[in-house]
Amino acid sequence: MSYFNVTILGCASAAPTTRHNPSAQLVTYRRHNMLVDCGEGTQLQIRRYGISFARLDHIFISHLHGDHFLGLPGLLSTLALHNVEGDVTVHTFAEGIDLLRPFVNAVCRERSYKLHWNAVDPGAGSVVLDDGSLRVSAFPLYHRVPCVGYRFEEVNKRRHIDRASCDFYGVPHFLMDGLKDGADLVLPDGTVVPNERLTTAPTPPASYAYCSDTVMDKRVAEAVAGVSVLYHEATYGDEGEPKAAPRGHSTARQAAAIARQAGAGKLVLGHYSQSILDESMLVREAAEVFDGEVIAADEGLKIHLA
Ligand SMILES: [Zn+2]
Repeated sequence: MSYFNVTILGCASAAPTTRHNPSAQLVTYRRHNMLVDCGEGTQLQIRRYGISFARLDHIFISHLHGDHFLGLPGLLSTLALHNVEGDVTVHTFAEGIDLLRPFVNAVCRERSYKLHWNAVDPGAGSVVLDDGSLRVSAFPLYHRVPCVGYRFEEVNKRRHIDRASCDFYGVPHFLMDGLKDGADLVLPDGTVVPNERLTTAPTPPASYAYCSDTVMDKRVAEAVAGVSVLYHEATYGDEGEPKAAPRGHSTARQAAAIARQAGAGKLVLGHYSQSILDESMLVREAAEVFDGEVIAADEGLKIHLA
């Protein structure tokens, strides 16, 4: 059963266009519904793709350019109109909290849910969420203003029970949790049955990293080393290369170089400049550098991680 997915809600840079919405993605992991960036119109995209407002629990903002957070006040207001309950945590820089909290409090006075603000340090890597099986960390990106990427990774993956073997040894149900965590079985006569005889290895942990917006920088490749899927901004193609670094952005080819250095499994390109009318060209340029699969983000694209 699929329990770790990403849905692209917006992959434009700068301003909304008729082709693309500004940045937003939904990362789902088991009970978590996490929004990454919240450009203008994100709440409409949430509706369009049939995502439940009620289950949203974390919102991670990469930086304070409008195309990455202007949708937040409207979304938080709509959650109250829908009588959403529970906890919603917004992760952004202290500057973002100072900016957004009074505004949100003014436009959304009566909230049915508990809103929390978590200050993210833009200059240092930090864990922003850890529930024991999923860890989300922020890491610095290199843009014109402070900016972070987010890495989502499975941790503490448990071993799988080998039913036939457990039945053979008559393992009682209450010991199964311990076996999944690697414990050996001790029989009533004191015989120890090693864990490997009763379980099989866990499936490899899946991970996802979101990098928007940034110039090409090898520190980014280090921060996303080994991810299963890397979303990296590709604001421009080769012809826009002279504009990329001065504006704090990357080309598709540069995104691919980061994916290659990081040893990523797959690369998803996004955050397109309005001047890009054919994203397949970006995919072709990236594929010349990166051997893994290269995918062009598009609204509604769903990426399966596990
Ligand atoms: Zn941007």
